[in-house]
Amino acid sequence: MNVSDEATKSFWMKDTELPSAPQLEQDVRCDVAVVGAGMAGVSIAYELALAGQSVVLVDRGRLLGGMTCRTTAHLAPICDDGLSELVKIRGEDLARGFQESQQAAVDRIEEHVSDLE
Ligand SMILES: Cc1cc2nc3c(=O)[nH]c(=O)nc-3n(C[C@H](O)[C@H](O)[C@H](O)COP(=O)(O)OP(=O)(O)OC[C@H]3O[C@@H](n4cnc5c(N)ncnc54)[C@H](O)[C@@H]3O)c2cc1C
Repeated sequence: MNVSDEATKSFWMKDTELPSAPQLEQDVRCDVAVVGAGMAGVSIAYELALAGQSVVLVDRGRLLGGMTCRTTAHLAPICDDGLSELVKIRGEDLARGFQESQQAAVDRIEEHVSDLE
């Protein structure tokens, strides 16, 4: 079971056909096994595959059926609680690093989307 089995459904869950994959039924060898096929797992598996690694991506439920199928899908490099909160807790250097990493992640996703179009 994962989030897609909960009673409430997001807009995407109503009319998007999620990809499917065969069940893992035997031992397989790979360079990296990624557990969890949400946005994070799929992204890291894709990056590793691009880097020439053999990857197995597994999930206990449906692919992208976790929190990812509930996202509003806004790609924004922002911190939900506001950057000033992060500065307060962790200081300016870490907050700057966080902000730069968020922006780099958005840029990277945009790169993939335009490569795959
Ligand atoms: C209402 C809502 C709106 C949102 N809007 C946005 C937005 O606009 N922009 C944004 O950037 N983010 C948004 N988010 C947040 C975003 O959706 C999540 O941060 C993101 O989808 C998390 O991805 P994930 O891969 O980490 O987790 P998930 O998508 O939850 O994936 C984790 C996967 O791991 C699997 N798993 C867990 N444990 C195991 C195990 N032991 N063995 C095998 N598999 C396992 C689960 O089944 C699941 O498929 C929103 C979230 C919600 C709820």
